[in-house]
Order: sequence, then structure tokens, then C-alpha cells
Amino acid sequence: MAVINSGSNALAAPEGAMHADDVLAAYTWSAGDCFRCATPQVPTVSVGEIDTPSGERYDIRACGRCVVAMEAERQRWARRHGLAYRPGELGAS
Ligand SMILES: [Zn+2]
Repeated sequence: MAVINSGSNALAAPEGAMHADDVLAAYTWSAGDCFRCATPQVPTVSVGEIDTPSGERYDIRACGRCVVAMEAERQRWARRHGLAYRPGELGAS
């Protein structure tokens, strides 16, 4: 498991949001290309898969900055709907 510390403090958490370090710690990281910002070969997490008609499976991966952004959106959505929010569940459903 890769440990991501450098730079994570630069990701400012929105008011009332969980701290970025806590969000990032909820995932297991490995090198890959981010589907969202297209940054190649950075620490990423799997956030989904695509199965093609020919039977190939592609792993959809996201970098730390994009995971924090997507988790913030999940947290806002949960708050709007009065639901509990827990980080680390991107790609889990
Ligand atoms: Zn990204």
C-alpha cells in the first residue's frame, strides 16, 4: 500500500467536510492513470470497472485530488438527503 503524504495538506477541505488526509486514508493506493484529470502514473485508487462486449475489463482509477473532490460531492449529497456519510466507498456500489 502506498502512503500519500506529500501535498495532501495542500488540499483544503471545504467547510464542514472531512479532512483530505482522512478521506485519502480510507483507500488503498497504487500507481495508475487518473480517469478524471488524465494525470498519468500517479498514486490512484480503483473507483469502478468497465466490462466491454469483447470481454475485456478496464479498471477506472482516480488520483488523490480527484478522490477528495468526488468524496466532497458524496458528502454534500449525503447531507442534502439527510444520510450518513462515510469516506472510502467510491466504486464500492
Ligand atoms: Zn485526477
